[in-house]
Amino acid sequence: MPRPAPGVPLYSRNRAFRSQTPVYFFVEGETEEDYIRHLNSETAEFHLIIEERSTDRRRLVEDAIALRKSRMGKAADLRRPHEYPRTWCVFDYDDDDRVDSLFRKAARHGVQIAFSHPCLELWWLLHFQPVTSSLDADTIKMKLGRLSQTRAFRGLSKNKHLTSDRWNALQELYPTARMNAQKLISHCGCICRPPHHGEDCVPSKRSPSCNMADLVDSLKIIY
Ligand SMILES: [Zn+2]
Repeated sequence: MPRPAPGVPLYSRNRAFRSQTPVYFFVEGETEEDYIRHLNSETAEFHLIIEERSTDRRRLVEDAIALRKSRMGKAADLRRPHEYPRTWCVFDYDDDDRVDSLFRKAARHGVQIAFSHPCLELWWLLHFQPVTSSLDADTIKMKLGRLSQTRAFRGLSKNKHLTSDRWNALQELYPTARMNAQKLISHCGCICRPPHHGEDCVPSKRSPSCNMADLVDSLKIIY
């Protein structure tokens, strides 16, 4: 997939009914971008913009902060509240312990992070079944490939894209995934503040965990 064009909104057939509120995404890979593009077809509330795709998580967070700072002047103008710069970074853990400092930095600057530990495929799996213990990425992909409910997730190691078949299999099960992700928080071991992890919680130690539902809910997508 070619690199996204920064600043260009993803439109869909319901564009005529869209508000002008942009949401900027800084995503780690093509799979994350696939997911945002599918979500784009579900919301009329926002203009979703894939601002950047990079495997360097630090770069994603720093560029999101820079964009937010650059737009804050306009946001401060109350005549243009739609320009309030909502920014999300979307990445998984992938043994990158910088995520802890990146979380702190993002929080200081109002940038939100949709984080999956160990990998985004955990979020797919939570649509179909609860997860009660730490799983590595290969095991998660294997479990997805063996699902009896759908064949769509077979061959994930060869093709990790969120194809239309896979997206269709996920859609109706969003409430299940959301509930299963929240269960993971209660099993985390931190002093949690449901539906969120506690302030003492270290993101790199949250395995398994996924807060993708925060992102979906923030877009006011209701299933
Ligand atoms: Zn926690």
